[in-house]
Amino acid sequence: MKEIKQFQTESRELLNLVINSIYSNKDVFLREIISNASDALDKYKYLALTDKKYPSREYEIWIELDKENKTLTITDNGIGMDKDELVDDLGTIAKSGSKEFISKLKSAKDQKETINIIGQFGVGFYSAYMVAKNIEVYTKKENGKGYKFESDGQESYSIEEDKSITDTGTKIVIHLKDDSEEFEYSQYLDEYVIEELIKKYSNYIRYPIKMNVTSKEPKKDADGKVIENEYNEVVETKTLNSMVPLWKKNRSEVKDEDLNAFYKEQFSDYEDPLSSMFLKVDGLICYNALVYIPSHIPADLYSDSYEKGLDLYAKSVFIQKNCKTLIPDYLKFVKGLVDSDDLSLNVSREILQNDARLNKIRDSIEKKVLSTLKDLMEKDEEKYNKFFENYGTFLKFGIYSTYGGKKEDLQDLLIYNNLNSDKMITLKSYVERMDKDQKYIYYACGKTLESIRLLPQLESYKKKGIDVLLLKDNIDEFALMMMRDYDGKQFKNISSETSEELTPDEKSKIDTLVSENKEILDNIKEALKDEVSEVTFTNKLVDAPVCLSSKDGVSMNMEEVMDQSPETSGKIKSRKVLEINPESKLFEMLKTLKDDKENIDTCAKILYSEALLLQGYDVKDKTEFVKNINELMIKLGQK
Ligand code: ADP
Repeated sequence: MKEIKQFQTESRELLNLVINSIYSNKDVFLREIISNASDALDKYKYLALTDKKYPSREYEIWIELDKENKTLTITDNGIGMDKDELVDDLGTIAKSGSKEFISKLKSAKDQKETINIIGQFGVGFYSAYMVAKNIEVYTKKENGKGYKFESDGQESYSIEEDKSITDTGTKIVIHLKDDSEEFEYSQYLDEYVIEELIKKYSNYIRYPIKMNVTSKEPKKDADGKVIENEYNEVVETKTLNSMVPLWKKNRSEVKDEDLNAFYKEQFSDYEDPLSSMFLKVDGLICYNALVYIPSHIPADLYSDSYEKGLDLYAKSVFIQKNCKTLIPDYLKFVKGLVDSDDLSLNVSREILQNDARLNKIRDSIEKKVLSTLKDLMEKDEEKYNKFFENYGTFLKFGIYSTYGGKKEDLQDLLIYNNLNSDKMITLKSYVERMDKDQKYIYYACGKTLESIRLLPQLESYKKKGIDVLLLKDNIDEFALMMMRDYDGKQFKNISSETSEELTPDEKSKIDTLVSENKEILDNIKEALKDEVSEVTFTNKLVDAPVCLSSKDGVSMNMEEVMDQSPETSGKIKSRKVLEINPESKLFEMLKTLKDDKENIDTCAKILYSEALLLQGYDVKDKTEFVKNINELMIKLGQK
């Protein structure tokens, strides 16, 4: 019996977007359908190799063009689908996270990004509706019933049992749209066009993609002599793709363009990768690998549904997509595949998770990626900067998440903005340029470079010409904390309390100031008792009257970062110190207030809020802040 089912609202919305989307390149539908067929063959082949119930066969993909009926048919003898799978896999589009997908699509900047998003969420099959007015799918699993699925890609689809299907696998019949002024759909009935598209997008599919191709042969007379301008049409079956897995070739046979084309096809990207690595390793465990760093951040990298990993093949048979074991967490943005003849096809996924051989492969791939990055850094600064802008956070995460375990491997790959130049610099070059007497590597944190550059604490560093690293990533300070030092030089936040850096002279000067102004400091402290743990003087300010520093390890920046995440929010507090510039006019004024507690209270609160604002933080109680300023202005008027 034929069942008609409605697409879910989300699926309908998605379909609309895909079909009418800015996809100028309708050609990609063929790549999507072929790659589904190839996946289906992979799945069947795996079963045939591991389970006797599945007879082995000649695995192939067929393309048929029917000019009369305007259909393009793609057939594979792969795993096929049962009824539930038809509903789940073809009746539901972009199952996982389709809401997120739609909102991403809607906000895509440009067409390139749209295509990238579509590729990543896998609406592959439905891309065929860009060229189809109707699609029929005939499919059967080994030892299962045959089904026909049909849909015009609008509101609904139908599914019915089809007893006429005898072969295992899937046949997809695409009824092409009628040619219009905007687009000539009938080009997909042209053998030459299809041959070119397969070469372009699906050349490395490991199964033969076959098509009957018509060619013209000159006619011959009875004596075997060629008759001029007369031809016979000959139909022969042709395999359109080259099939040899790229990674099994010799590096010398493979052009960089081939590596890039393969990447784009395999990992659905529109842009060449930033870097491609071709590995052939003959060690304790032998394997071939293709490893890529995408030029841009994969669209879903930060979503929960993102799966890191490299695709795993054993003896060129596909085993698992995104095998997590093959890549460390902090390199989750890396794409690629690994093929090893030493692995058995029977390995289960559970075993793979702890397989010592895979761990070895992971370690050597990690090394290769890091050495490639080092090379890139030395040879192409611009490209490396681009890499770092996209993925620098992940390297820092690598140091943080291993509690500094990866410090040695990663510290020289880090680059930082800094006070003294517009270029990003390494820690090595910071240290090389340090003055002999400089004990620490200084850094300042904030949300943007602009706001960091305005920090009052920077004033004295600017004046003395001491360089300061400017950190705007949330993870920065945590990563430095895990590193502790670089080349024996400890890191120091310029917003931390720096009394231990004072010379004995400076220290005694400040001690004297503190004792001379004890009453006023006490009064300020009393006014800010819920906010700061100490009020003192500093010599690090030039123009600003006050700044806030922190004591004992946890900086204000760290407190703010921890507050952003629900698990750590409110758990860690920094110990703030209000530091006063004794040279400032405002301090002169404060001195005149002596024991005028009420006015000192107001001034202290305003100064505290000022320091927060200048250091890029929010004032907690804005109403009180405004009220205090207004009161002062009123007093000014009354004078
Ligand atoms: P994706 O391939 O990204 O998962 P598609 O919309 O292209 O998304 O396909 C959805 C699912 O439908 C596939 O994951 C697969 O399970 C199933 N499918 C599609 N084409 C075939 C095919 N030729 N043979 C078997 N299953 C298929």
